[in-house]
Amino acid sequence: MEKLNTIKGTKDLFEKDLLYHDEIIANAGKISRCLNYERIVTPIIESTNVFVRTLGKTSDIISKEMYTFIDQGKDEITLRPEGTAAVARALISNSLYENTCQKYYYFGPMFRREKPQSGRLRQFNQFGLEYFNQDNFLSDTEVIFIANKLIESLNINDQVVLQINTLGNRVSRETYKENLKKYFLKYKQDLSHDSKVRLEMNVLRILDSKDSKDKEIALGAPIIMDYLDLESKTFYENLKNSLEELKIKFYENNNLVRGLDYYNHTAFEFVTKSEKRQNTIIAGGRYNGLVKSLGGKDICGVGWAAGIERISSLLEDKLFRQKKKIISIISTSDELNLFGFKILDKLIEMTNISFNLHLSGTFKKKISKANKINSVGSIIIGDDEIKSGDLIWKDFQTGKQELVKIKEIQTFITTRFL
Ligand code: ATP
Ligand code: MG
Repeated sequence: MEKLNTIKGTKDLFEKDLLYHDEIIANAGKISRCLNYERIVTPIIESTNVFVRTLGKTSDIISKEMYTFIDQGKDEITLRPEGTAAVARALISNSLYENTCQKYYYFGPMFRREKPQSGRLRQFNQFGLEYFNQDNFLSDTEVIFIANKLIESLNINDQVVLQINTLGNRVSRETYKENLKKYFLKYKQDLSHDSKVRLEMNVLRILDSKDSKDKEIALGAPIIMDYLDLESKTFYENLKNSLEELKIKFYENNNLVRGLDYYNHTAFEFVTKSEKRQNTIIAGGRYNGLVKSLGGKDICGVGWAAGIERISSLLEDKLFRQKKKIISIISTSDELNLFGFKILDKLIEMTNISFNLHLSGTFKKKISKANKINSVGSIIIGDDEIKSGDLIWKDFQTGKQELVKIKEIQTFITTRFL
């Protein structure tokens, strides 16, 4: 039969990849909870409208990347391509506005039908957080502070830089977009096909183009700084000052725009220093019009999303956590196999050790299997020893054996391995 494989652009996570995935989520969750963010889990399927209304028809996601289908009840459904719109929808659906905690974090798979390549999957995992209903620049500072802490906690700060920009408020941005359009119209013939479309639909995105000719033209484009009104300018200056005060290093990149339509004021990305094309590992910004565009109250928000697989690839060479220790449980005869479960009853709460019950084969085979899976040692259940209330502990590093009382096995393992 033909060998079955994963669908293009998706992958199985196991062993090292899964270890890194879990470690990133654990660190991010821990830091977020420390700053009083609460976890939220939204469904993987949503009404297509949740994304169309928020991301805007001209965004890459809506125009070409959504996994959308009509279900048997004729409802238009989409596999979520990102988390922010879904969390905003949850805020509205559950009237969470009045909650004291307006800070949420989430993680899970996202789906986008993109061209699969290194760092670009069709199903990938994100960890993200959102801070709603706070228009003070300090909430932008807070979310950047958390992202920075996450990067430090993973020991990858030397490989990553923070870039920031402002998109200004709506008024500033509209004037800027008009002038940007005037500028790019002059070079229309030389722009890539995608950017010719962007010129009409979403001119800001030309600044973000990966095409080399587009990039060259963009170098001479007007910059947002020259179009900011006082409110926008003050907001941006305050944010920069706060980051400096906290010694969070950043670079300004006036061509940094977010792919989605709902952003304003702050835009930021943590990017790797490598020349790789997919080098953005965390991206975020402020999205003041988002909740309203979904039919909710006019509340603002700021947040980011991290690409777990892209962060994992930076951890590749760093073994930052020792592998779990394995202890084998072996009986000298099959009749005593069940006794292994009784021993396990006493040990099961030890979280950083795995106990492997060897359930079949000769004693010799069991011991050799225990070695093969790299056990640090083995608890051996023998006929004679059991009668006198003992177990044998065999240390695989030293090869030494000793007797341990059954009722003391927990303390024995704890003092040795915890
Ligand atoms: P890009 O410019 O790389 O397409 P984007 O603007 O579409 O990024 P966001 O929607 O802001 O990305 O998603 C946040 C983060 O999620 C990205 O910075 C990246 O780390 C990760 N990410 C986005 N798309 C993918 C994908 N197809 N595969 C893997 N990770 C992804
Ligand atoms: Mg994209």
